[in-house]
Amino acid sequence: GKPIRVERLLANLGYGKRRECAALIKQGRATLRNGGKLKVGEKVLPGSVVLDGEELDPPSPLVLVLNKPTGYVVTSPDDENVSDPTVYDLLPYRFAKRRPFLSCVGRLDKETSGLLLLTDDGAMLHRINSPKRGIWKVYEATLEKPLPPKAAAAAVKKFASGTMMLENDFTPLLPARLEVTGERTARVAICEGRYHQVRRMFAAVGSHVVALRRVSVGALALAALGEGGEGPLPEAVWRFLTPEELQRVF
Ligand code: URA
Repeated sequence: GKPIRVERLLANLGYGKRRECAALIKQGRATLRNGGKLKVGEKVLPGSVVLDGEELDPPSPLVLVLNKPTGYVVTSPDDENVSDPTVYDLLPYRFAKRRPFLSCVGRLDKETSGLLLLTDDGAMLHRINSPKRGIWKVYEATLEKPLPPKAAAAAVKKFASGTMMLENDFTPLLPARLEVTGERTARVAICEGRYHQVRRMFAAVGSHVVALRRVSVGALALAALGEGGEGPLPEAVWRFLTPEELQRVF
């Protein structure tokens, strides 16, 4: 990164308003990595500063993954009109104050759980969301009632057709993959993100989704995002993606 005034760097990372960050510098809490004192207004390289001796959050571009629990709303960090808890409540408070904004990559319904990416890189966000890029988002759905084999076969065909229309939409859905995995469970892969898409797709074949969880985006699977890449990322837990993990998305 380029040199930037240290109080602005801290404010951009969400550590406080510019004036509050200036106070952190005056108090000697923000220093150079080697302990060197800093002055308000001094220009620094983003990687050179520590706060209370601790590493600052990484600068932009930032990508993190959260295993979203049900009951949390996916919103934008500056949205003050939501009374429900939001996904930002599961992250350090300063993450909602970062500039550039840390945005959610695609929407998950309040009652949908699972893999949610967040990034402050607008181009990357677009790349992951754009249906043209064909990045598969995979969901596990639990249905209210078993899907009889004949209905299941018809649904697989309909989802894959590329001509399926949802009520109130003006264009057909791109081909999607449906795999019935149990009496009342199915896995669905889509590469668009229309409003309530998976729930509405099942409704269109006479089925009702009672639970929905996103398990992967591209080849990035929640099941392999636990500590050290072993096991699943626990519910409500977030972490930064490694460059190698990020590559799995594309
Ligand atoms: N489809 C839905 O219906 N809901 C989601 O949250 C994601 C995909």
